[in-house]
Amino acid sequence: MWGWKHKKLAVALTCADWRLHQHKVDLNRRLATLLGVEGVDFIAVPGPDGLTRPERSSEWQTAVSQVNLLIAAHAPRVLVVAAHQRCAGHPVPDVEHETDVLATAKALKAATGFFGPVCAVVAVYHSDTRWELKPVGQF
Ligand SMILES: [Zn+2]
Repeated sequence: MWGWKHKKLAVALTCADWRLHQHKVDLNRRLATLLGVEGVDFIAVPGPDGLTRPERSSEWQTAVSQVNLLIAAHAPRVLVVAAHQRCAGHPVPDVEHETDVLATAKALKAATGFFGPVCAVVAVYHSDTRWELKPVGQF
């Protein structure tokens, strides 16, 4: 996009779930605010915090390739893995989303060799239109 080189950007690996992508939820802008950037590229897959499971290795490789493309194209300052509770793509108890999103952020840092921070965030469920963004760590 015209002018992007002057902007501070992030790349987010998040879930495809429609509830996160409603206007009311405003996930893109809220992640930008949380990360201190002006724009966020999104890669959306079902259950991003489950991508490091062995049975999803081909999906993981695809996601890493897509993140690498955006790192090369947009020079982001930060990466983020944004998981959420009540996720059909990775249906685990709430507490496991926190451990799994941390593991995925760590694996993403290792797989991409990204020099900046790789953050882990869980969207905590309040209702289909109300999600609280909870930072759980960074690598
Ligand atoms: Zn999901």
